[in-house]
Amino acid sequence: MIDLRSDTVTRPSAAMRDAMYSAPVGDDVWGDDPSVARFEAAVAERAGKDAALLFPSGTQSNLTALLVHCQRGDEVIAGQQAHTYKYEGGGAAVLGGIQPQPVEHADDGSLPLERIRAAIKPDDIHFARTRLLALENTIGGRVIDADYVAAATDLAREHGLATHLDGARLFNAAVATDTPLARLCAPFDTVSLCFSKGLGAPMGSALVGPRPLIDAARRWRKMLGGGMRQSGIIAAACHHALDHQVADLAQDHRRAARLAEGLEALPEIEVVSRATNMVFLRVAKRHIAPLRAWLAERRILIDVLYDTRLVVHRDLDDDAIDATLAAFRSYLAG
Ligand SMILES: *Cc1c(COP(=O)(O)O)cnc(C)c1O
Repeated sequence: MIDLRSDTVTRPSAAMRDAMYSAPVGDDVWGDDPSVARFEAAVAERAGKDAALLFPSGTQSNLTALLVHCQRGDEVIAGQQAHTYKYEGGGAAVLGGIQPQPVEHADDGSLPLERIRAAIKPDDIHFARTRLLALENTIGGRVIDADYVAAATDLAREHGLATHLDGARLFNAAVATDTPLARLCAPFDTVSLCFSKGLGAPMGSALVGPRPLIDAARRWRKMLGGGMRQSGIIAAACHHALDHQVADLAQDHRRAARLAEGLEALPEIEVVSRATNMVFLRVAKRHIAPLRAWLAERRILIDVLYDTRLVVHRDLDDDAIDATLAAFRSYLAG
């Protein structure tokens, strides 16, 4: 099976399973799990922050960050396409009474500074209190420009806003730009990192930030049902990914570029964007259903829609890319 639907479909490698099997564990709600403690210390150091906290999912990690930064009635500025705004079930509004203020993205995925500035409310009893700027890197596979991030977070601080980064795929950005993770985290108060995407762990995200915020996050995590017991098994998987699988993301990026180049050469397929491990296609309507079926018959899983996303990951090798290109070619030739 060649599964290009997402990098979440990656399965733990044999070495990762060994690390999970042999991890010493304890009850992490009581602070007794040595593998969790070791992992949290390692990821905090890598991110250049005081402390880290392990979460079962990135959604819970992002939600916790928003709950830490915002009180009921406060407002978070986030991108219209941001995961925290669009793909997390409205959790911040439902569970935190936090009002989202979505902002339209520029083509490069950034939120233009003038739109952020215009969205920040003055201190006036008519308005929600603007409290937090939340960015995402990578977004749609695109790496957000570092100078832009510096300017946007400076603007936030000038207005007394806290800053959070949804860095679900920040390791992809770090590898793609050959930048230390800590440098990408530095402009933000808190950052959420996912280990269950391209890094290949079965589950696990980490929230990193200053000690007092992470202490507050630990309380929220428990309230949200994210206090886990022998979670060293999960931490060991994430730690294995951190130590051994980050550099492999460069392979995914190289293969995604090759996939994009192959698809660009085809008629009737428009490659609209390609960055890090993702390729976005536009497929003529009449091809959508037959192409999806053609690929599925060849055991290639792609959610073919008008806008189609292909995601390359560590469970796909060069042969998988060749087979995918061959299937597109044969469909278009027929
Ligand atoms: C996957 C993802 C998350 C977290 O998702 P979970 O499935 O809850 O782990 C957050 N932000 C972005 C950008 C993501 O891609």
